[in-house]
Amino acid sequence: MSQFSFPIAPETPEERSLRSRIRAFLEAERAAGGYQSVADCWVSGVSPAFSRKLGAMGWIGMTWPERYGGQALPALHRLVVTEELLVAGAPVAAHWIADRQTGAQILKFGTERQKQSILPRIAAGRCYTCVGMSEPQAGSDLAAVTTKATKTSSGWSLSGRKIWSTVAHISNYMIVLARTSPAEGKNRHAGLSQFLVNLTLSGIGISGIRDIAGHTHFNEVVFDDVKLTRDDLLGEEGNGWAQCMGELALERSGPERFLTTFLLLEQALAELPAAFPPAIVGELIARVTTLRIMSRGIALRLQAGEHPDTEAALVKQLGNAFEKHLFGAVRGVIAAYPEAEMPAGLLRLRDEVQLRLPASTLRGGTTEILRGVIARQLGVR
Ligand SMILES: Cc1cc2nc3c(=O)[nH]c(=O)nc-3n(C[C@H](O)[C@H](O)[C@H](O)COP(=O)(O)OP(=O)(O)OC[C@H]3O[C@@H](n4cnc5c(N)ncnc54)[C@H](O)[C@@H]3O)c2cc1C
Repeated sequence: MSQFSFPIAPETPEERSLRSRIRAFLEAERAAGGYQSVADCWVSGVSPAFSRKLGAMGWIGMTWPERYGGQALPALHRLVVTEELLVAGAPVAAHWIADRQTGAQILKFGTERQKQSILPRIAAGRCYTCVGMSEPQAGSDLAAVTTKATKTSSGWSLSGRKIWSTVAHISNYMIVLARTSPAEGKNRHAGLSQFLVNLTLSGIGISGIRDIAGHTHFNEVVFDDVKLTRDDLLGEEGNGWAQCMGELALERSGPERFLTTFLLLEQALAELPAAFPPAIVGELIARVTTLRIMSRGIALRLQAGEHPDTEAALVKQLGNAFEKHLFGAVRGVIAAYPEAEMPAGLLRLRDEVQLRLPASTLRGGTTEILRGVIARQLGVR
């Protein structure tokens, strides 16, 4: 049977010092009116101005080499920053995907030109990116993508349609998964490639999709004979599936899978300190601590060049379940009080979280799909 592995690394003095600095920065920004905390901030809190400030502080692309705008810091330093940004509900959505996964993909698979022209702009908080995997008929079954890139004399022609593309409407680039040759018999994962597509090219239409909360943060993106150069291929032709799976490990393993609703707990505890039975708080803290340890373990393994895809699926699934549990617990405590006596801000946050929570078990892979990934790794057929 396979074993999951989550190396444990205690926080270093450098990490503690970084945590203090980011907390002080966020406190000062909030006090100066630089931002208002929002739930699900890595998707809903779009502020290019705030992203530029974080870039100037050196808190985007922190792990990348200095020649590409990074600081060559350990992955655990980035984790400290992302944890603090999420708990504060800071508006980080503009650059989040670029920092979390697109930059890492470019670093790993990109050409020198792609690295030099894009990574420093991402690190400065001035270049945003999105994920072009899902299509109307290809969500859980991602290998069913029909977006097609056909070779031309100067490069490629891209046609097809992507859906649910978070922040595409403010993004400069999308990594598109497209079919470049037919599947090989039963191997549907063959013949797929990734492209780094400049979203200002002609033939690209982006239209917003309104979510249940009335916000437009994801989009439909249509490609109609978009002319790409040979240089726009990301990585190797035909290696798209493997590249995508690596990208999903980055997407699934981070603290955004269990800290998106933490703001609600913090605010409820601050507003109603006597209302929470210690057993409820104790259980929530124990669970989030375990998730943090697992997430730190995955960050270490990613840093070592390993592929903890299954562990990432496990953290996402457990994290999503924790967020649901946290919301239920806080809602239960609030429900014991008459609404008229409740601070309006806390009720607004509760309602916002309630509307946003269902998306968490869909984006980045549904609960059923993640459980399938984990079960297969455990040898369940
Ligand atoms: C808020 C949000 C943001 C998103 N952002 C992006 C983005 O930026 N880029 C991007 O490419 N995509 C994005 N997505 C899409 C997301 O990845 C898909 O919604 C997800 O993969 C599920 O695909 P689907 O919606 O087509 O549902 P389906 O795949 O049709 O699934 C429907 C239901 O059937 C279940 N199901 C399907 N297959 C199986 C199976 N084999 N076994 C058991 N159950 C199964 C699923 O678990 C689900 O409950 C986003 C989605 C959301 C909600």
